[in-house]
Amino acid sequence: MEKRDYYEVLGVSKSASLDEIKKAYRKLALKFHPDRNSDNKDAEQSFKEAAEAYEVLSDPEKRKKYDQFGHSGMKGAFGGHGFDMSDFYQAHGSEFGDVFDFFTGGSGSIFDAFFGGHGPGPGGRSQHRSARRGESLQFELGITFEEAVSGTRKEIEFRRLDTCSECGGTGAAKGYSKRKCPQCAGRGQVSSSQGFFSVTTTCPRCKGSGQVVERPCKACNGNGLVEKPHKVKVRIPAGVDTGVRLKSEGEGSMGPDGGLRGDLYVRIRVQPHHLFERTGDDIILKAPIDISTAALGGEIEIPTLEGKVSLKIPSGTQSGKIFRLKGKGIRNLHGYGVGDMFVKVLVETPVRMNSKQRKLVEEIKENFSLSNFPDKSAFIKSSEINKWK
Ligand SMILES: [Zn+2]
Ligand SMILES: [Zn+2]
Repeated sequence: MEKRDYYEVLGVSKSASLDEIKKAYRKLALKFHPDRNSDNKDAEQSFKEAAEAYEVLSDPEKRKKYDQFGHSGMKGAFGGHGFDMSDFYQAHGSEFGDVFDFFTGGSGSIFDAFFGGHGPGPGGRSQHRSARRGESLQFELGITFEEAVSGTRKEIEFRRLDTCSECGGTGAAKGYSKRKCPQCAGRGQVSSSQGFFSVTTTCPRCKGSGQVVERPCKACNGNGLVEKPHKVKVRIPAGVDTGVRLKSEGEGSMGPDGGLRGDLYVRIRVQPHHLFERTGDDIILKAPIDISTAALGGEIEIPTLEGKVSLKIPSGTQSGKIFRLKGKGIRNLHGYGVGDMFVKVLVETPVRMNSKQRKLVEEIKENFSLSNFPDKSAFIKSSEINKWK
């Protein structure tokens, strides 16, 4: 699909002011926001398209470049990896806080919306009060190579927001109760005009709950939530690798005002193995062989995930030659078969030779000719032909 012109995307003229660009973007962001268009791929596409256009046109330098060279001038404009919505949110989240907060309930976690973590629940957000969902948490878990290969269970301990036991989650000090928020009259939202548009945003005073506490609970500062340690058992499936993110639904922080818990994401980090190197589902193993085995041929023992196997080395094997052991790699995380093992043999030249050994090697030198070393011979020949300086 041809990339649309950024001005056309935002519906502004080429001479539009920054203010006009900002307004146009805000309007589109509200219209196409994923929370308002759940499961609508087109809206999601338009939402990202608008953000990308805004990213460029709101930056005088990027805009100048775009005006001169069009889309081809934008290579590398987004940090080399293309436009990224989460980068955009990081950069402009506070600037368009109202746009994002309105739909995410002020949790500031727009990513949940993109991951489909939460959208409007049954009945949508038309109600003036909506319990906000708790924050999703990320935990990094280091596991060994063996654990990654065969799978394991781990208990992890982390801190998450939980109901305050002091006030039972109401946020009010003992003997006090909640009352209607004076700023929004209990609606949870306030409206303000932005030029032609009336923008409804989450009430900053009560953060959308519609209620405020007269005297806040000391233990939780009126939030109704406190951080508590929590343990959870996580099943690590066989075949995981560094960077894999496992989701533990509903194990994140508690939401305020009885909102659902967020999720827990466990990010896997696999410790390197002392012998095996992993690439995808394959294993690379460097195996040193002695000079006589390389020349005469023989068998060497190779450690694999399922124990030792023997590998035949043909006579005349060169250093760096790679042998493939089919099916001796890692079982695929998603069930797509098993990888292979690639054994790279490295011929080891003898060191610390005694006089007898030296004599034997000297005999090789005397008894062998260039015809025993085709690579060396070819190298010498080509060097002569080219007559390099
Ligand atoms: Zn409390
Ligand atoms: Zn309020």
